[in-house]
Amino acid sequence: MWKILTPCDVTGRMIDTGIEIDKSSFARLPSFVGRIGCPHCGGEHEWSKATAKVVDGDGAVPAAR
Ligand SMILES: [Zn+2]
Repeated sequence: MWKILTPCDVTGRMIDTGIEIDKSSFARLPSFVGRIGCPHCGGEHEWSKATAKVVDGDGAVPAAR
């Protein structure tokens, strides 16, 4: 399953939105804007389809073998 992350514009770290989706479903979503409480800076950020990043699992890049 893929997860939607969005960047914290204060710390530059990625926030886990808690939303799981597969990549093709995300691509078909209409544009949206949401707000999310940020665990990194304690603030609240506006995020949208444009800022969101869909990553596999916990966002780790699979190790090259
Ligand atoms: Zn933040």
